[in-house]
Amino acid sequence: MEQFEGLTPTETLQRVSASLGCSVTSAEVAAFLDKHDDLRHLRERFHVPKIADLPPSAADVKQVHGAEECMYLVGNSLGLQPKRARTYLEEELDMWAKAGVHGHTVGSRPWAWAENKIEDMMAEVVGAEPEEVALMNGLTVNLHLLLLSFYKPTAARHKILLEDKAFPSDHYAVESQIRLRGFDPQESMLLLSARPGEETLRTQDILDVIEKEGDSIAVVMFSGVQYYTGQLFNMAAITEAGHKKGCYVGFDCAHAAGNVELKLHAWGVDFACWCSYKYINSGAGGIAGAFIHKKHKDTIKPALTGWWGHDLNTRFQMNNVMDLQPGISGFRLSNQPILLVCPLQASLEVFKMTSMQALRKKSLLLTGYLEFLIRHYYTKDPGRPQKPHVRIITPSDPEQRGCQLSLSFSVPIREVFDELERRGVACDMREPSVLRIAPVPMYNSFTDVHRFVETLGAALTATSQK
Ligand SMILES: *Cc1c(COP(=O)(O)O)cnc(C)c1O
Repeated sequence: MEQFEGLTPTETLQRVSASLGCSVTSAEVAAFLDKHDDLRHLRERFHVPKIADLPPSAADVKQVHGAEECMYLVGNSLGLQPKRARTYLEEELDMWAKAGVHGHTVGSRPWAWAENKIEDMMAEVVGAEPEEVALMNGLTVNLHLLLLSFYKPTAARHKILLEDKAFPSDHYAVESQIRLRGFDPQESMLLLSARPGEETLRTQDILDVIEKEGDSIAVVMFSGVQYYTGQLFNMAAITEAGHKKGCYVGFDCAHAAGNVELKLHAWGVDFACWCSYKYINSGAGGIAGAFIHKKHKDTIKPALTGWWGHDLNTRFQMNNVMDLQPGISGFRLSNQPILLVCPLQASLEVFKMTSMQALRKKSLLLTGYLEFLIRHYYTKDPGRPQKPHVRIITPSDPEQRGCQLSLSFSVPIREVFDELERRGVACDMREPSVLRIAPVPMYNSFTDVHRFVETLGAALTATSQK
């Protein structure tokens, strides 16, 4: 969409509607943007569920709209299935059936090093060098393995700084690591909250607390994108501030990887972990990623070791003398499930057809479009206080968010959510009043966003009439 280079999303929408001679809220605008979307072909690489197949959709809706694709706006929770996933899985099921144990070393995807073959694609997505990334385990397991090596508390420097509303698993992982080292989470877990009346953290407040408390902080551990608010943290600035005070700085990139441009290597981040089933579409429980910057490759060692951390060339000599791989590779413990490598490979190959830069460019407009429509229809109207309105929790600055918008409604959300589901919307709800809507640039269209906002209108009308 070169003709819109340099314009804000609102300017782009106004220009498109003017050229089409229609209202900026018209479905024609969405259709036009889809037609000129350079990445529209990527959607065809995924299975988009049909409305008829979604368990909560209603019989009357199924009858009329069942064959249509649903409005899938929940890729922040579980990404769609890449079509190639099944092909690759079938290849390995066949291999297992026909060759048994030989599958470890033969074929196009020898199981014994299958994950190593796709790590360069993963590294590209998170802005790392291939040797800095390992695909292994689940996210929380990797977070623990990394903290075991990076969190070495002393009497003077024993704190871990994190958000007070971190994802529960991260909170528990940090809490238990502190206990494991014989410290007290009450004293060593430094939880940073938003200012009263605010929902997202100010970058300056994060940097200030690092500056003020840094001497007692061992590890600064933030998310890249906050799962609830959708806030994208300034990872470069946080890393720099942490390093200035002698802290290690790590990020949980579960909601950032595949969503926003990451430069883990260039920013000098010490360690990171992420799951692959959200924006990276590897399927529920898919293999997670872990990163250690290569500046640490000879100094940071794994606390726990297994045979998969042994140099591959001599791993199978089984002489029980560890030849540990440098960096993150030495943290590998077990052989990886080939049946999970398959869908992840399928997804990473789609990422390879584009770039995070191109995805992000589309994402800014796609999410800007959602924001525009929500503001247009649901800004609080003082003249009509009864009319439901929406406050967008996610920062309005595009540099401080990924694709997700968290919408806080003036009415209880449960019934609205049910009405959305019966009409073919898949999204995430957090009671009492929040919907998290993630238009994913990889496969969502502008029409998806437009249909969603129309459907939201119908859902709100239906609930108000009950
Ligand atoms: C999704 C998510 C998790 C999930 O952890 P698993 O170990 O993959 O079950 C953890 N932390 C964050 C921040 C997440 O977004």
